[in-house]
Amino acid sequence: MLSVAALVGVAGTASASAATPTPKSPVAKGYLGAVSSIDVDATAIGTEVLRRGGNAVDAAVAVAAALGVTDPFSAGVGGGGFFVYYDAKTGKVHTLDGRETAPKAADANLFVEDGKPLPFADAVTSGLSVGVPGTPATWQEALRKWGTRSLGQSVAPAEALARKGFVVDQTFHDQVGENAERFAAFPSTRSLYLPGGQPPAPGTVFRNPDLAGTYAELAERGTDALYRGDIGADIAKTVQQPPVDPASTLKVRPGRLSDADLAAYRAIERDPTHTQYRGLDVYGMPAPSSGGLTVGEALNILQNYDLAHASQADYLQYFLEASRYAFADRNRWIGDPATVDVPAKELLSRKFADSRACLISKDHAAASPVAPADPRHPQPCAAGTVGAPTPYEGQHTTHLTAADKWGNVVAYTLTIEQEGGSGMVVPGRGFLLNNELTDFSFTPVTPGVPDPNLPGPGKRPRSSMAPTIVLRDGKPFFAEGSPGGATIITTVLQVLLGRIDRGLSLEDAIAAPRVSQRNAATSDVEQAFLDQPAAADLQARGQSYSSSPAEIGASTGVERLRDGRWLAAAEPVRRGQGAAQVVLPWTWPGEN
Ligand code: GLU
Repeated sequence: MLSVAALVGVAGTASASAATPTPKSPVAKGYLGAVSSIDVDATAIGTEVLRRGGNAVDAAVAVAAALGVTDPFSAGVGGGGFFVYYDAKTGKVHTLDGRETAPKAADANLFVEDGKPLPFADAVTSGLSVGVPGTPATWQEALRKWGTRSLGQSVAPAEALARKGFVVDQTFHDQVGENAERFAAFPSTRSLYLPGGQPPAPGTVFRNPDLAGTYAELAERGTDALYRGDIGADIAKTVQQPPVDPASTLKVRPGRLSDADLAAYRAIERDPTHTQYRGLDVYGMPAPSSGGLTVGEALNILQNYDLAHASQADYLQYFLEASRYAFADRNRWIGDPATVDVPAKELLSRKFADSRACLISKDHAAASPVAPADPRHPQPCAAGTVGAPTPYEGQHTTHLTAADKWGNVVAYTLTIEQEGGSGMVVPGRGFLLNNELTDFSFTPVTPGVPDPNLPGPGKRPRSSMAPTIVLRDGKPFFAEGSPGGATIITTVLQVLLGRIDRGLSLEDAIAAPRVSQRNAATSDVEQAFLDQPAAADLQARGQSYSSSPAEIGASTGVERLRDGRWLAAAEPVRRGQGAAQVVLPWTWPGEN
């Protein structure tokens, strides 16, 4: 399945000879386990791990490592993420926080220069934005706690993929094209991703021997090679002295991430967020991600309405308004719990949700930015005074989902933040460094109101990543997640509502046209959303739209079907389509 490159013996990073991509499907049903990700080679690697007796955790790590090869502008060892795991033996859900961390030298003025916040793009392509990567530690911890295979075994298929190569698709080509200008400024990035000065052409084979070497070193020496060894030394050097071409006019600010920052890094096990919704148990990622808390608050608000029997327009009105208020509260209260007192329990209380639902009208959109409320002192229908807008976040990232024959399930979202991260490939190592620290507020979002998400020493920036596992009667029902910056939260919520309330199959809930309200005057929409009659109906209620970005989310999920099979479901169109596989495919006669 992965041997395309072997067929076309290539040298260098990209071959001019055309190769045939591995066929992929966004839906698969069958037995013995399931994997879904945005990339077919990565999904195939995970499925093979399951076939050979690995569990969902082993598969998830192997898929993530492969995505570092084939989806390198969204994720890789230079980034971070959040891992949610259902353990079939104990019936418990666990999470790992593998979020990148600011250097000890960072303070609240990390992104302030001459008294003013840096322009966002300048901050992105800089050493200032690079946090200590959390992804290698996440893999190591997940395997140590719940896996059955070593880190070396788990990254070996990705190492082979990086060495032998894979077929470039249109999405990969386009992502390099979108970043071409800044990638060209760094010789290490340019030589890897702009061979011959151009993005690799679709249909050619792309190899990354330096990344293969990085994986080989991690396999041999463990994550110490990165957190206490020469890979880490190269990371710190890249941040402190960005390897920019002296001929480039790009101003690339250095950062202060040090060997000591790398050595201090830990992936942290945290209790998941838990929300009961329509008799189901919804588990998600707690702070420093805002994913689980914001999805949970919105679900609690939405328990007040019969969404199963509502018209499409009424359903969407409630969805948009619940998102609006949940985002106001998110922006005011959620940050890194190591430095900020996050009222997590209170944000998820039904009493608080009811006090917010009280403000929602079926007929009128509220004027954003609406104000947050204090979840520690819920006052029914208290409107608050000062709005809490949502700062800009990227729209990228990648999500994978895996389940095994024992019934263990993983939902794992990982990222390097912007598409292409900081733009800096660590010389000789074959991976991009993240720009995750731009997820901090550069200055307080609302002057005079405490902002829980200002930079600080050793602090983790607030995330929106929302890997989610839903249990029915204590057993897996489905798991899902999405890329998309702050739209992750609304996409994950929309998929949950589609599946639980609106009678959609998981694959249809993932495919559904997307709308995202994040306490802004307008909601982001996809064109397909505007094509449904409900869009105009909502406009008459005061909802308004902006159509950027063109695509929102590219989710993946798995579901345990009532007949005992697994369904793997991936995005059918967005980002060039995802890839779903099961270990033993089985469809009933006449079934799609
Ligand atoms: N940095 C974002 C977050 O943690 C994810 C990156 C993105 O989706 O653009 O929420």
